[in-house]
Amino acid sequence: MPERMCVSCGIRNERSAFIKISTRLEPQNTNNSTGRNAYVCRKIDCIQKLAGGKTRIGMSLKRTNIKKEDLIKLSNEILTKVINGQD
Ligand SMILES: [Zn+2]
Repeated sequence: MPERMCVSCGIRNERSAFIKISTRLEPQNTNNSTGRNAYVCRKIDCIQKLAGGKTRIGMSLKRTNIKKEDLIKLSNEILTKVINGQD
């Protein structure tokens, strides 16, 4: 089974331990996304770190031009999902 890595803390685990993020910076619930994906732990710390812009997300998605405001939006979106138990 392929292992995934959290873009914030670098821990490796199986898919179910992570929230999947698409290249369009949207959290993905299903496996129907194509292209590259990034993964982040379901931990508040790791999700909040996304907003700071110092994670490996750009490397994982092969994007160098991610805007800080988009990262903040993504971070908030994932936090809301995790807090509401939607993922
Ligand atoms: Zn993590």
